[in-house]
Order: sequence, then structure tokens, then C-alpha cells
Amino acid sequence: MPLQKCKYHLYLVAFVSPKEFEYHAPAELQEAFSLLKEHGDNAKILAGGQSLIPLLKSRIFSVPHLVDIGRIRGLKNVVENGSEIRIGALVTISDLEANNEIRTRFQAISDAAGLIGDPLVRNRGTIGGNISHGDPSNDMPAAMVALKARFKLSSQQGERIVDAGEFFIDTLQTDVREGEILTEIIVPEPRNRSGSAYMKLKKTAGDFCVAGVAVSVSLDQHGGLSGLNVAITAAGPRVIEVKGLEEKVTGKKLNEELSAIISTEVVNASEPAEDFYGTVEYKRKVIGLLTGDCLELAVERAKEGAKR
Ligand SMILES: Cc1cc2nc3c(=O)[nH]c(=O)nc-3n(C[C@H](O)[C@H](O)[C@H](O)COP(=O)(O)OP(=O)(O)OC[C@H]3O[C@@H](n4cnc5c(N)ncnc54)[C@H](O)[C@@H]3O)c2cc1C
Repeated sequence: MPLQKCKYHLYLVAFVSPKEFEYHAPAELQEAFSLLKEHGDNAKILAGGQSLIPLLKSRIFSVPHLVDIGRIRGLKNVVENGSEIRIGALVTISDLEANNEIRTRFQAISDAAGLIGDPLVRNRGTIGGNISHGDPSNDMPAAMVALKARFKLSSQQGERIVDAGEFFIDTLQTDVREGEILTEIIVPEPRNRSGSAYMKLKKTAGDFCVAGVAVSVSLDQHGGLSGLNVAITAAGPRVIEVKGLEEKVTGKKLNEELSAIISTEVVNASEPAEDFYGTVEYKRKVIGLLTGDCLELAVERAKEGAKR
């Protein structure tokens, strides 16, 4: 079975040692760009190592050169400027979870951070790695898509910005091109009366999920929905963005009937596959239930936000 079509986490049980590689630890971005240019396809970026090291140890994947970007200055900042929050690619999952601003204004990111792996994984894993890995079971991509984040990709040639909705191509395949490093995650400041949430169902503590759902909503001054974005984790070869929801809900207040309509749309957009985590039917049920709960929480948070 090709790697990109299997639940590769399950193949990591038999850990061995990685094949030999040369380790580089640049202190500056320019030095990292030079190394990536020099070694091309033979080099891989290493951040927290929480996804890459298990792959190397299992020998599912090997590469002759590792470029550890962990010492590069300037990639660990979180800066808010009123219209957006800019998160450095090396900010750890634990730091995101602990950040007050993120918890109160960008709740789906905070929710996702708190649900990733275990404390060890969260202390080492970075937001940039979680996104760039392109694993459809990783939690951060859905939060990014629901919050309409944009990613700054830097290289010797300069910088380009890619929308989260365009970034995730296939399993373990993203729009990071050869020689590029994801340096910053830019999330637009939510409008007034906005809220977001992320929920997932996992079988055991610290595990990847059966499925996860991220929701971001905005309300008009009468409490009707004026914006709605939903994205789903572990429901296809990449994170799934549910398109076309907004026009169906604009001006309507969230109630049981509307929640059921939205949940059905979300389930219909999902493409789960049967695996160790459950059957297609089970996963579709989980996605529908998570959507309902997530919508309710996001709307509650939007109302709370309006009072502040
Ligand atoms: C036991 C365990 C449980 C886990 N549970 C979860 C979970 O529940 N949810 C979840 O989302 N994840 C989970 N993970 C996966 C892991 O937490 C994330 O994928 C992690 O955040 C990856 O970040 P990292 O910094 O460790 O990336 P690394 O492992 O260093 O890199 C991952 C990939 O991204 C590339 N990369 C890294 N940084 C950049 C960058 N700035 N620019 C371009 N490319 C880059 C690397 O080349 C590599 O291909 C788990 C991992 C383990 C070991």
C-alpha cells in the first residue's frame, strides 16, 4: 500500500534506529536556505521532530541531510497587531496552549493545541511542523482552515503567502516547495461577535483522532449567523474545508434544526476511510455529532465575546 494512502501512524510500532544522516544546525535563516539549496531533495527540515523522527526511526522514510531549524532566531514570536496575529513557525504547541490572547480570541487554535498528543509531544512539537507535515490526522490544519489563516513561506528567492485552504494538497503533501521554510502563520483578527472551537474524538489518551471538527462563526447584531467556516480532521487524504455553507445560513439563528442541516452538509463533505479507528459509517456519525457540539460552543463564545 503506498504510504500516502495508509494510516501510517500504525506502522510505527516497530521502531528501529534511523539510517545514517548528516545533521546541520543553522543559526540563521539564510544559512538554512543555503543548506536546503545545496542538498535539494536530499535534505529535510527538522523542527520539533515529533513527526519526522518516528518516521526516520521506523525507516518508512530516510534522508541523507537533516536541517534542524530549531536554533534559528525570530521564529518563536507571537505578535498581535490589531488586525491579525502572527505566530512564528517554531512556537511550540504548549506555548500556543498557554497563550492567553490565543485562548480568548483564536479559541480553535487553543482547543486544538490542548488536544494534541501528550505533554511531551506538545512541548517539542511546533505549529510549523504540525502544519507542514501534511498529515490529515494532525489537528492544527483544521483550526487554520476554519480561521482562514495564511502561511508565509520564505526562501532565498523571497517570500510568498499561501491561504490555508490552498496549502494542503494530499497526505503528507503540502505547498512547501523545495528550498522553502514555513516561517510564519498569519491569522486574521476575528470580527466582533465571533467565536471558534475545535473538538475531536480519540480512542485513547494522547492518540490521534477518529475525527475532528473546527468551526468558526460570526454573528450579526440580532444573533443570526453572518459567517461560518468548518474544516474536518482525519476525514480524507487532507484536511477537508467545507465550502458553500455561509450562503445557506446567513441571517439564521442557530437552533436544533439549523444545526442538523449544517451537520448533514459537513458529513456529506467528509471522505473518511475505514481503518483501525472505525468504519466509514461510524466516522460519519462522529463528524455529525462533533459538528453540532462545536457549532454550539463557537456560537456561545461569539456571544461571550460580544459582551466583552
Ligand atoms: C506520540 C505522538 C502523538 C501525537 N499525537 C498527535 C495528535 O494528537 N495531534 C496532532 O496533530 N499531532 C500529533 N502528533 C504529531 C506531532 O505532534 C505533530 O505533527 C508535530 O506538531 C509536528 O511538529 P514538529 O515540530 O515536531 O515537526 P517535525 O517532526 O520536526 O517535522 C514534521 C514535518 O514538517 C516539516 N517541517 C517542520 N517544520 C517546518 C517548517 N517550518 N517549514 C517547512 N517544513 C517544516 C519537516 O520537514 C517534516 O516533514 C503526535 C506525535 C507523537 C509522537
